Amino acid sequence: MEHHELIVIGGGPAGLAAATAAANEGAECLLLDEQSTPGGQVYRAVQTVPEQRARLLGPDYQAGRDLVTQFEQSGARHLPNTTVWNLNGRCEVGILRDGKTSLLHAKRVIIASGAMERPVPFPGWTLPGVMPAGAGQILLKSSALVPADGLVLAGSGPLLLLLAWQYLQAGVSIGAILDMTPHGNFWRALPRLPEALLAHHYIIKGLRYQLQLKMARVPYFTGVRNLRATGTDSIEAVEFDHRNTSKRIETSLLLTHFGVVPDSHLSRCAGCDHRWDSAQLCWRPQTDEWCNSSLAGIAIAGDGAGIGGAVAARHAGRIAGLGSAHALGHVGSMRRDEIGRDDQRWLNDDLRVRPFLEAMFRPPPELLYQPDDATVICRCEEITAGQVRRAIQDGHHDTNQVKFLTRCGMGPCQGRQCNNAVGQLLAHELDVDMMAAGGYRIRPPIRPLTISQLAALEDMQAGGGA
Ligand SMILES: Cc1cc2nc3c(=O)[nH]c(=O)nc-3n(C[C@H](O)[C@H](O)[C@H](O)COP(=O)(O)OP(=O)(O)OC[C@H]3O[C@@H](n4cnc5c(N)ncnc54)[C@H](O)[C@@H]3O)c2cc1C
Repeated sequence: MEHHELIVIGGGPAGLAAATAAANEGAECLLLDEQSTPGGQVYRAVQTVPEQRARLLGPDYQAGRDLVTQFEQSGARHLPNTTVWNLNGRCEVGILRDGKTSLLHAKRVIIASGAMERPVPFPGWTLPGVMPAGAGQILLKSSALVPADGLVLAGSGPLLLLLAWQYLQAGVSIGAILDMTPHGNFWRALPRLPEALLAHHYIIKGLRYQLQLKMARVPYFTGVRNLRATGTDSIEAVEFDHRNTSKRIETSLLLTHFGVVPDSHLSRCAGCDHRWDSAQLCWRPQTDEWCNSSLAGIAIAGDGAGIGGAVAARHAGRIAGLGSAHALGHVGSMRRDEIGRDDQRWLNDDLRVRPFLEAMFRPPPELLYQPDDATVICRCEEITAGQVRRAIQDGHHDTNQVKFLTRCGMGPCQGRQCNNAVGQLLAHELDVDMMAAGGYRIRPPIRPLTISQLAALEDMQAGGGA
C-alpha cells in the first residue's frame, strides 16, 4: 500500500484550497480527483477553456484560475482521472485509475467531494431528454455544447437562473422557465433577509439574472406545480399547472434543478457521524471548527460538509488544510490560528446568505414527500413509489429495510439518487422525522467496479503482482 501524509479527495475549490494550504506549510499532500483537470463542479476545466467560453461563463467562473495556479505552485501532487471507491476509518483509500484498482493509506484524509444536484422524482423524470440542469452546464463548460432552441428549464434555485443566463449569453433561445418555488417561500424567507443583505452581492446577482431574462422576453412562469414530462420513447412535452390551469409545452429537452445537496457517500462509507439537516434537507456530516469529522484523521470541507457555495468552500478548504498541517505537526497552534482567523471570519460572513436562500428555494413539499405511486423512485432498479409504499405498509420501517425488500438503492449509483426520496416518503407515510427514517448504510464500492478490477486488488494484496 502506498503511504502518504495527507490525501485530499476532490479538486474543487475546497480540495484545491485545502491541499494548497497544507502543502504550503510543508505537508506531503496528494490530491485525487475523478476529473481530468482541477476545478471541481464550479471551475470545471477553468484552465483549459478558450477565453471566449470563459467570458461567457462569467467572472465568478474565471475566479477559479487563481486557485488552480496557487495549487500548482504549492508542491501538492495531483492525481487526475482517479475515482475513489472506498474510504474507511483507518484512512485507507481505494482508488480506480486507468482501469486498475489500488489501495492508498494516509495519516490524514480531507474529503472535499462537493455537492450533487438534489434528485427529485416526478412523473416522466426518467424519460430520455429529461436531465438535471447541472448536466447541461457540464456540457457547456467542458465541451461548449448547448441545446437546440426551445429547451425548457424547470425547478427552483440559483443554479437554474445562472444556467438560463449562461444559455442566454451563448445565444440559446429558451422555450420557457418554469419556476416551481412555492409563493409562500418568500414570506418564510423574509425574516432572514436582513442578515442575508450582509452578503448582498449574491442577491444582486440573482436579481440581475432575472432582469436580463425578462429583458430577453424568455417566457417565465412562477408558482408552477404538478410538473410532468410526457412522451413515448423520449420526452415530447412538459405539462404543468399554472394559476389553476393545466398547460403543455412541446419540447425535446427538459432540464430540472431543485438545489444541491452534499455528496456524502464517502463520509458515510467511512463511518463519520451524520445528521439530517432540516433547513438544507440533506444528510450532513458533523464537523468541528477545523472541519474535523467524528473520526480521528478524517476532515470534511466544502459543500460535502453542508452547502455553502464556492467561496465558502474555498475558505473551509483552507481551514481544513491548516488544521491537518497542524495535526501532522507542520504548524504550531498559534500560527494555525493566526492564518486561519481570516478564513473563519470570511467563511462566517459568506454563510450569512444561506438561511435566506434555503428558505427561499425550499422545494415544494408535495414533490419531496408525496410522489405518485407510478413515479419511479430508484432509477437503477426501476422501483416505483407504490412499491416503496407497499414495503412500508408491510412493516418495513427504515430505509435499509425498504432497500433489502425492494432492491431500491442497490443499483450502480448505490442509492445516491434515491436515498433521500425513500427516506422522505417513509417519514411522510409513518409521520416520523428523517433521523428515525434513517439513511442507507453505505458500503464500498461507492462507484461501480468490475469483478476483475476487484480481483486484481486481491492478487496485489496477496503479492501476486498487478
Ligand atoms: C452540477 C453542478 C454544477 C454547479 N455549478 C455551479 C456554478 O456554475 N456556480 C456556482 O457558484 N456553483 C455551482 N455549483 C455549486 C458548486 O459546486 C459548489 O458550491 C462548489 O463547487 C463547492 O466546491 P467543493 O470544492 O466543495 O466541491 P466541488 O467543486 O463539487 O468539487 C468536488 C470534486 O470532488 C470530486 N469527487 C467527488 N467524489 C469523488 C470520488 N469518489 N472520487 C474522485 N473524485 C471525486 C469531483 O469530481 C469534484 O471535482 C454546482 C454544483 C453542481 C452539483
